[in-house]
Amino acid sequence: MPGEIFVITAPSGTGKTTLLKSLMAADPRLRFSISYTTRSPRPGEVDGRDYFFVSPAEFRRLADTGALAEWVEQFGYGYGTSRQWVQERVDSGADLVFDLDSRGGRALKQEFPQAILIFILPPSLEELERRLHGRGRLDPEELARRLANGRAELQEVSWYDYLVVNDDLPTALADLQAIVRAARCRTAQLWPQLARRFLLENP
Ligand code: ADP
Ligand code: 5GP
Repeated sequence: MPGEIFVITAPSGTGKTTLLKSLMAADPRLRFSISYTTRSPRPGEVDGRDYFFVSPAEFRRLADTGALAEWVEQFGYGYGTSRQWVQERVDSGADLVFDLDSRGGRALKQEFPQAILIFILPPSLEELERRLHGRGRLDPEELARRLANGRAELQEVSWYDYLVVNDDLPTALADLQAIVRAARCRTAQLWPQLARRFLLENP
């Protein structure tokens, strides 16, 4: 049985990283899709766990040779998904969670139409700005860039499958878990497995 693909998008500062950590910790069937990036690791980030951190030259080589299923340049850095890495894990039945911007979500959905796209919203733009400030570590220019980019990302919500508002953290986490659970109950996902129990030969 092929694995599920969950794509999560949110304006920077919404709380996506916080939510994803809790989601993944509580569900051992989920695996995080590790992207390539040319940005430097933040404190606490580990190469091969949070991202594959590569040089701009290496990133360019990967993009030019078609090794990336999708890639974007944003905030002056390259971000991209390895086609082979994803395909191998989906084929082996892993449920993959992708942290992508909306362009990445759109591109991945084209390549993997079964992908489930989830957009996480902040409760308001004011709260988004507060959270970005609270997270620290960003210089004012990058902060402004991320806020402007986040506003632009909000234009893309209409073609996402699900919206989750991250106001109260436990509620948002429960919403995400409900989406994952519902996805696993889809007929297309379950019936090929269950049909055998009922001795049907052509599910
Ligand atoms: P992102 O990955 O979307 O950029 P983070 O997970 O780094 O966002 O969260 C940004 C900041 O907002 C962090 O300081 C985090 O603790 C805080 N945060 C996340 N979710 C909530 C929430 N529901 N209520 C209040 N603060 C939150
Ligand atoms: P950050 O620098 O905060 O880790 O990530 C910045 C943005 O890049 C986030 O919106 C994140 O979703 C996006 N991103 C991370 N990896 C990828 C990727 O492989 N492809 C695309 N399209 N976006 C990515």
